[in-house]
Amino acid sequence: MKVIFHPRFYEVYTSDPAAASGRMEAVVKALEKDFEFIEPEPATGRDLERVHGRQHIQAIKGDPMVYEIGLLAAGGAIQAAELAFNGQPSFGLIRPPGHHASPHSCWGFCYFNNIAIAIKKLIHEEKINRALILDFDLHYGDGTANTFAGNRTVTYFHPEGAHRQTFLNSIQQTLASDKDYDIIAISAGFDRHEEDWGGLLKTEDYHSIGKWARDFSLENCQARRFGVLEGGYNHSVLGRNVRSFLEGFMD
Ligand SMILES: [Zn+2]
Repeated sequence: MKVIFHPRFYEVYTSDPAAASGRMEAVVKALEKDFEFIEPEPATGRDLERVHGRQHIQAIKGDPMVYEIGLLAAGGAIQAAELAFNGQPSFGLIRPPGHHASPHSCWGFCYFNNIAIAIKKLIHEEKINRALILDFDLHYGDGTANTFAGNRTVTYFHPEGAHRQTFLNSIQQTLASDKDYDIIAISAGFDRHEEDWGGLLKTEDYHSIGKWARDFSLENCQARRFGVLEGGYNHSVLGRNVRSFLEGFMD
């Protein structure tokens, strides 16, 4: 499985927890020996405009460092999606995260909606018609939901559940019942872990979720699947949680 990563993701581009020093290093350290890393190209203005309004893009441009790294993060999601479309499951180890970025606004450490930009590009290029986005981050990805509101070809699913088993069951049930897709894309946030903000999931649960998504893709969409990093803030467990997910998600 290929991991898309750019050294500029190490840069501390703001003071929020997603941009914290050491966060990317923790994940790279957990993955670098066993996964092939490739560098993304930055997304283009046209890529951004499939999701975001020009005023929003201009506002982000006001901080050149955030803008440049944001373009690389969106480009990383695009590359993961394109590899997945071509039969190579992949993971975008990217930041800033994206799922709180709506067409005309953003919050929650997000600027551009990486996963939405990637899916919109595949649809624009007529490579896919229908996509399922599974977002297992602790937080509801309002930006992704807003981007695809009223869009019957892209389904956004954010599992809920105050209990570990309820949460996991809701993912399994959705993947078992909803099948008519050309690709599955994962907004992989790890902040629901028992040692992170959400205090719920165990490391092995990410392996299970990854495997369920893998099985779904094999059964329903020619193995097309990719993930991108969203949240996850405890550096001492983030690397092993991402690794656990990828070990379930890969072949
Ligand atoms: Zn989150």
